[in-house]
Amino acid sequence: MVQWVYNFGAGAADGRAEMKNLLGGKGANLAEMASIGLPVPPGFTLTTEVCTRFYEDKCTYPAELKGQVAKALALVEERSGQKFGDATNPLLVSVRSGARASMPGMMDTVLNLGLNDQTVAALAKRSGDRRFAYDSYRRFVQMYSDVVLGIELSHFEKLLERAKQRRGVKQDHELVVEDLEKLVMDYKARVHVEIGMDFPEDPHEQLWGAIGAVFNSWMNQRAKTYRQLHDIPEAWGTAVNVQAMVFGNMGSDCATGVAFTRNPSNGTNDFYGEFLVNAQGEDVVAGIRTPQELTIQARKSHGSDLPSLEEVMPNIFRELCTVRQQLETHYKDMQDIEFTIQQNKLYMLQTRTGKRTAHAALQIAVDMANEGLISKSQALMRLKPELIDQLLHPTLDPKAKKQVIAKGLPASPGAAAGKVVFSADEAVRRAKDGEKVLLVRIETSPDDIHGLHAAEGVLTTRGGMTSHAAVVARGMGRPCVAGAGAVQVDYAAARLSVGSVAVQEGQILTIDGVTGEVILGEVPTVPPQMSGAFGTIMAWADEYRTLQVRANAETPNDARQAKEFGAQGIGLVRTEHMFFDGGRIIAMRRMILAADEADRKAALEELLTMQREDITELFRIMDGRPVTVRLLDPPLHEFIPHTEAEMAQVAKAAGVPLNRVRRRATELQEANPMLGHRGCRLAITYPEICEMQARAIFEAAAAVGRAGGAVPVAEVMVPLVATLQELSILKEVVEKTAAAVQKEQGMNFTYRVGTMIELPRACLQAGKLAEQAEFFSFGTNDLTQTTYGMSRDDAGAFLPEYKAKGIVEQDPFVSLDQEGVGELIKVAVERGRTARNGMKMGICGEHGGDPASIEFCNKVGLDYVSCSPFRVPVARLAAAQAALKLRGEKALQPSTKAAKPLQPTFGPW
Ligand code: PEP
Ligand code: MG
Repeated sequence: MVQWVYNFGAGAADGRAEMKNLLGGKGANLAEMASIGLPVPPGFTLTTEVCTRFYEDKCTYPAELKGQVAKALALVEERSGQKFGDATNPLLVSVRSGARASMPGMMDTVLNLGLNDQTVAALAKRSGDRRFAYDSYRRFVQMYSDVVLGIELSHFEKLLERAKQRRGVKQDHELVVEDLEKLVMDYKARVHVEIGMDFPEDPHEQLWGAIGAVFNSWMNQRAKTYRQLHDIPEAWGTAVNVQAMVFGNMGSDCATGVAFTRNPSNGTNDFYGEFLVNAQGEDVVAGIRTPQELTIQARKSHGSDLPSLEEVMPNIFRELCTVRQQLETHYKDMQDIEFTIQQNKLYMLQTRTGKRTAHAALQIAVDMANEGLISKSQALMRLKPELIDQLLHPTLDPKAKKQVIAKGLPASPGAAAGKVVFSADEAVRRAKDGEKVLLVRIETSPDDIHGLHAAEGVLTTRGGMTSHAAVVARGMGRPCVAGAGAVQVDYAAARLSVGSVAVQEGQILTIDGVTGEVILGEVPTVPPQMSGAFGTIMAWADEYRTLQVRANAETPNDARQAKEFGAQGIGLVRTEHMFFDGGRIIAMRRMILAADEADRKAALEELLTMQREDITELFRIMDGRPVTVRLLDPPLHEFIPHTEAEMAQVAKAAGVPLNRVRRRATELQEANPMLGHRGCRLAITYPEICEMQARAIFEAAAAVGRAGGAVPVAEVMVPLVATLQELSILKEVVEKTAAAVQKEQGMNFTYRVGTMIELPRACLQAGKLAEQAEFFSFGTNDLTQTTYGMSRDDAGAFLPEYKAKGIVEQDPFVSLDQEGVGELIKVAVERGRTARNGMKMGICGEHGGDPASIEFCNKVGLDYVSCSPFRVPVARLAAAQAALKLRGEKALQPSTKAAKPLQPTFGPW
């Protein structure tokens, strides 16, 4: 029989942490915590398979489910010493979703389930607090009516408002028990009006209603959007967790809180969290009340006047610190926990791997390796290479003048400036028009997710480090300042104000997610500084990786940046980029428009000087590291303008008749230039261009050598080769030029002539090409477009739909198509190396900076990847992970040893 329901609690559990696919993250970790003896209220999990079956079978449950739930419920009753629906000691439960991947706030939850007119009286008696009991009942009826019965919340809000008016108070908590009792009756009457039926009194009916609603919420719009944004497959489904309720709102000896076992913002080894006395969990994350700090130290450093947990409940605080230690030792990673204190007793309600900023992720990985909790290779394996991208973001220029108008919590690092908008929809609308926006909200809710995504950064005026805005922004890598209480937001007037400063929608603000500052206007930024942990991770990555990492660069700035990020050479100099600016393009045009050989030679002479200077500079910067210079690639018509006015300008600047410009433009016109007269075909028809470029490269090498610099191994690369003959002809030109320059300069230097592999024919003919080519560099941009027969400039029109329909999993121009393009690469590697033993091979298409593609390159035995300078650190880490994966290293999992309860404290509850 299929097991659809898994139990946990009282130091035992059917499930384990590694069963996330079946039990969801929450369920699996509740089971794990219970099994290591942490105080988890008993409960059970309906598996994700119930959810998938539910949707496959038109929203019906497996036949055995009812019986299994009844049995599990009986076990919870036994473990808690309470009875569901009992008139004296009733068991109340929470019903929560829990998918494989965390989807904070996207699905539904029902709390206090099991309350009815009878059990509420028992709860009042047991807690000794009638007001608390009826407040729980009121909340339950409201939540259940909203989530399960689908009744608009506004009906209940109106009734609540009316009750407060009648009592003459402003806040919910000022209502007295009689008000709440009446409210429950009013709520129920409203339910009857809305759905024509009574609110369900039977706890079992309530339970099945809530279970159904949570399964249904897997398909709500919020959840669907979140899944799309985070690549979470619909087929995963959610689990449902039913768990005995514990109350953090039963009085002043109760509390509820959330915490991270280390600081999620900067990674320091500090216990980091927030709590509220006499509150339910929702109150902390909703950001409605300002929460208190856990430790005295945090309270002091945040200048809070509210006492910390360490001061309010020192014993519980100590117990929680022990739990923190146990969790980290067990999971070997930073955890994000939820806890509740009921009448001075601590209960753990959740643990999961804590979301953290890129900065914190590196710091924590390095610290944990240094603490001996994990190994160096495990530290490397757990870092997503994409995280490194976030670290490379600019921060505010410390020298810039700035008018700080308010300060909030530094909730997610990075600096962001943008036009202020006050709604998620407006953020999306303006972002679509290409505007940079800053989303400002009093607080955010899961409904704002699209706006958070569209904005450069987020500013909230309420809520803490674990508020919705903070958590989501950190996950997305968006800068966020949370809880800037001095900022007053007036949604109706589309304006915010701080004292006398008013900012209208559309005006620019800057936020600094590292300091929490809110600044008027746009503040200049500076490039990122690499922290100690970043350097350590890069150094460790270098120890493990076998792939070399080079950069694609043609300007001195790019080359310097690449070197700073650890590039071991330049894998691609696109020489045409050097000809596009200023005076260079004029010389280039003069060469293209030349009337005869002599004219062309003169123009080429001019180009030679410029090209030599540029390459000399690159060689100098790269200081002996290899530099691969590619011969001119694009079709010549790209250098000639096509409007009449521009042609006239060119004619004047180049000193040629306008008619000649017109004629040349027509001659160079091509129907499909990407597959036309470009790449090596240009050099075949204009060998003097190839000769000039080779000369520039070799004279540059000689110049660097003569100036006492390290002479680089110059690598001359021929683009878009399809046949051996093309390569042979051009190699001969290059070799002749090299010999001439060596003779003229009286100097010998090493150089190599190689080819790009960018066409399927080249892959198949790799054996032959290797007879002449001394290295291969896979130009996977062109190889992808020619393999797919899909133009890289036009694919954007239909690829998103292809992705949505699952025709392609990834944009093949971003992540290498391993089945198609990859197969061709494999063939080329094999045939090339058979012909030329140990032949050096690399990749210089965009894929050279994509982690999945890097893993592939490593697997097929390439020597290096070459990518844009800012992706070099990402590539170094990805290369290390690729090497570790080949050795069989896996991403770190929590210990799977059958753990003995550490403190079997959980008795009858
Ligand atoms: C390539 O085709 O992959 C390549 C690197 O060349 P380009 O992008 O310049 O065509
Ligand atoms: Mg190319």
